[in-house]
Amino acid sequence: MLISGGGIAGSALAVLASSAGFDVTVVERAAGERSSGSPVDVHGRAYAVAESLGVIDRLRSAATDARELTIVDTGGDPVARMRINAARDPRHIELPRADLAAILAGAGAGDCELLHSDELTAVVDGGHGVDVEFAHATPRRFDLVVGADGLHSGVRRLAFGPEGDYVRFLGMYLAGMRTDEAPADPTRVLLYNEPGRSTTVHPATGHPMAGFIFRSTERVHHRDRDAQLALLRARYDGAGWRSHELLERYAESDDTYFDAVSQVRMPTWSTGRIGLVGDAASSLSLFGDGSSSAIVGAATLAQELAAARGTGDWAAAFARYERRHRRVVAPNVRGFGVASRFIVPATAGGIAARNLLIRVGAVFSRPGGSAPA
Ligand SMILES: Cc1cc2nc3c(=O)[nH]c(=O)nc-3n(C[C@H](O)[C@H](O)[C@H](O)COP(=O)(O)OP(=O)(O)OC[C@H]3O[C@@H](n4cnc5c(N)ncnc54)[C@H](O)[C@@H]3O)c2cc1C
Repeated sequence: MLISGGGIAGSALAVLASSAGFDVTVVERAAGERSSGSPVDVHGRAYAVAESLGVIDRLRSAATDARELTIVDTGGDPVARMRINAARDPRHIELPRADLAAILAGAGAGDCELLHSDELTAVVDGGHGVDVEFAHATPRRFDLVVGADGLHSGVRRLAFGPEGDYVRFLGMYLAGMRTDEAPADPTRVLLYNEPGRSTTVHPATGHPMAGFIFRSTERVHHRDRDAQLALLRARYDGAGWRSHELLERYAESDDTYFDAVSQVRMPTWSTGRIGLVGDAASSLSLFGDGSSSAIVGAATLAQELAAARGTGDWAAAFARYERRHRRVVAPNVRGFGVASRFIVPATAGGIAARNLLIRVGAVFSRPGGSAPA
C-alpha cells in the first residue's frame, strides 16, 4: 500500500495498516518539519485509537500546558475567560501537529518504507494495481494508494480532478507563525477580536504561535506570499492589541502558514484501488475537529482494508469505510457556523454576545478555580 502524506492521517494509517499485515510505503513531500506546527487535539475515539497504539504517555509529554482561553481587550486585559477542552476532559490532549504525526509514526518504527522529499506525479489504476510515478523515485506499482496528503491533496488532484471541483472557500483566512518569544503564561491562550478579525497567541510548547484569523471574500493563493501579506496588512490596518507588532514579525519570518479556510466536499472518497483519508477527503480547516477525525478515519480505513485482505475487494472496503466515517465528520460540518462565529464574530454585537456567553459559562465552570472575569 502506498500512502501519500506522512501527517496525522497518513502516520496513523501507516502504523495501523502495517500492524494489520500490509507492506506500507509512505511518500511525504516535506523534507522535515520546520516548526512543531499549531496545536491540535486528540480526544474522543481518537484518544482510544492512541491508547490502543500505546502512545498516550508520549502524547502527554508533548502536550501543551494550555488550560484557559482568555479574551483580551486592546490593552491586553482579560474581558472573558473559559477553560479549554483539554483542561475539562482527562481524555483530551492538545499538542503540536508535527509532534502528533511523529509520535503516531514512531508507534510503528521500522515497519514502513519512507520516501521523504518526494511526491506523486501520476497515479493510474489499471484494475490489477495502481501504477504511480514520483517526482524523484522510480515508478512502481502498488495494490492500493491512499491520499492522506491534506487539504491540497495531490492524490485527489491526480485521481479525482482539479482542487477547484472539491474545495470550497468559506470566506475566511488563517495565517500563523511561530514566535521566538517566551510564553508570558504557558496556561493561557490569548484571543483578541475586532469585527471580522482576530489575533491569537497560543503558548504552544516553548515558542508561542501567533495567529491571524479573519474574514475576507478576496481570493489569494496559499503560495502567493506577496498577495497574502498585502491582504493581511489591509485587513489588520488599525487593529489593536499586539496585531501590528505580530504582523510585522510575520512579514519577516520564513516559517509561516497561510491558507484559506476551506471545506473539502467529495461525492465519494474512493475510486477503485485509490482512496482518501483525513483533510484530503473532508476538511473544515481548523474548525472541523480535523486532527481527531483524521486519526479515527485512518483507524476505520485500516480496519476495513484489513477485513478485505482475504477477498481483495478493495472498492467495497473503501465504501464501508466511507459510510462509517461520514457519520463521524457530518456533525463537524454542521458546527462550522457556530465555531467560526465564536472565534471570529463578524460584528461588535457578536463579540459582545460571545463574551457574555463565556462569562455566564465561566460562572458555572469556574475556570482554573479563579473568579470569572
Ligand atoms: C493553523 C491550524 C490550526 C488547526 N487547529 C486545529 C485544532 O485546534 N484542532 C483540530 O482538530 N484541528 C486543527 N487543525 C486542523 C488539523 O491540523 C487537520 O485537520 C489535520 O492536520 C488533518 O490531518 P491530515 O493528516 O489529513 O493532513 P495534514 O496534517 O495536513 O498532513 C498532510 C501531510 O501530507 C503532506 N503532503 C502534502 N501534499 C503532499 C503531496 N503532494 N505529496 C506528499 N505529501 C504531501 C504534508 O507535508 C503533510 O505532512 C488546524 C489546522 C491549521 C492549519
